[in-house]
Amino acid sequence: MKRGHEPIRECICCGQKFPKTSLVRIVKNKEGISFDQNGKSEGRGAYLCKSPECLKKLTRQKRLNRAFRQTVDDSVYGAIAQTLQLTETNSESTKPVKA
Ligand SMILES: [Zn+2]
Repeated sequence: MKRGHEPIRECICCGQKFPKTSLVRIVKNKEGISFDQNGKSEGRGAYLCKSPECLKKLTRQKRLNRAFRQTVDDSVYGAIAQTLQLTETNSESTKPVKA
């Protein structure tokens, strides 16, 4: 394995290219569409960058419908949005808190 050659993927909302590791993966397989926590689930993947703008776009413009060429249920968007918001909050709250 060579270093410095990360796979590049395109965000389905802004179309910008990012190293795969800095994107979140949404996967479609026989169980349906879900947020792929470890990036290793089987199935067709769509990638999304972590910008709040893109998260908004994803749900408002129903970008997954296009990415997966099917109608994606609102509850799926809801679950993904919720997961991503939680993830973001968690990573930002790493500052030490003084009592
Ligand atoms: Zn994006």
